[in-house]
Amino acid sequence: MLIDRFGRRIDYLRISVTSKCNLHCIYCRPSDCPRSETPCEELSCDEIATVARVAGELGVSHVRLTGGEPLMRAGLEMLVRKLSAIPEIDDLSMTTNGQLLAERAAELACAGLQRVNISLDSLDAETYCSLTGGGSLERVWAGIESAQSASLRPISAQRGSGFQPDTTKINVVLVRGYNDCEIVQFAELARDRALHVRFIEVLPAGPAASQAGPLFYPAAEVLRQLRTDRLHREDRPGPGPAQVWRLGRGTVGIISSLTNPPCPSCNRLRLTSDGTLRPCLTDNTEIDLRPALAAPRPGPAIAEALREAVAAKPAQGAHLTGQWTGGPAMCRVGG
Ligand code: SAM
Repeated sequence: MLIDRFGRRIDYLRISVTSKCNLHCIYCRPSDCPRSETPCEELSCDEIATVARVAGELGVSHVRLTGGEPLMRAGLEMLVRKLSAIPEIDDLSMTTNGQLLAERAAELACAGLQRVNISLDSLDAETYCSLTGGGSLERVWAGIESAQSASLRPISAQRGSGFQPDTTKINVVLVRGYNDCEIVQFAELARDRALHVRFIEVLPAGPAASQAGPLFYPAAEVLRQLRTDRLHREDRPGPGPAQVWRLGRGTVGIISSLTNPPCPSCNRLRLTSDGTLRPCLTDNTEIDLRPALAAPRPGPAIAEALREAVAAKPAQGAHLTGQWTGGPAMCRVGG
């Protein structure tokens, strides 16, 4: 079992499977930002599966595939098959922008993917296109519908909480001046279409860090807009950093990484697409896994690196201690 210096049990590994992305979200990797990173050599599917297997033996039970855009990773279905065969991993999920999901959801579900979070920052086609640097709202909707028909659902449905049997999770990064006028509309969508909507405070990160200030919109404003007395706090909030309220057949939640950070309950490690472990999203400590993967007995070497990463987890992210200048692009780290 992996327990850090602050008594937090680490059972969740987020794996960025590629740093490539087909969108240019303004808070992540806007198209007018100079490229700050050279393309990296990605871990192979076998290497990723080896790391996940060792992590599973150490108590990791939830793996999330992210990126970049995970659907741009060649061989993703094969990777999902390998990961879903690891007995200790009982929750295998993916975060995607949904642009390429419509054609792939059924095959991914067959391969063993259990659920998806879909990023959708606006319900207006023009705003969505401008926020994402060219994304198609129609494609995301097609992706959401395919995910729902392929039964890619959130964890509450699978673990038998008896709540929201047919829902998909939608991530909305709050961006002042772009989507702060759509909060009620997103909540109505959660209520009427049995969706889980999560509003996420924007973090100053990567090449977009210097532009994030004016875009910041606090999660508390979301609750004010939604008048929380009309919402019902979920009795059994799922695992994860969100505060969650029921709304009709769906839920809305807020992830206030800056104003009410979830660090005390952090349960995660991150693996970047080029093979480094990051103990914390906003702390630049990294542990290179490549030497462990190349070791004569990779298993014990990887286990050692995972323990080292857990031991290096800070109490809270550097974005809260004034020591954060933005770090690498979220595309590399996986969000
Ligand atoms: N391409 C996929 C997607 O768009 O969902 C997965 C990768 S993306 C880096 C993972 C998550 O990080 C998305 O929900 C995205 O909106 C979020 N994200 C990216 N940059 C962020 C930032 N600066 N602040 C907050 N969330 C961010």
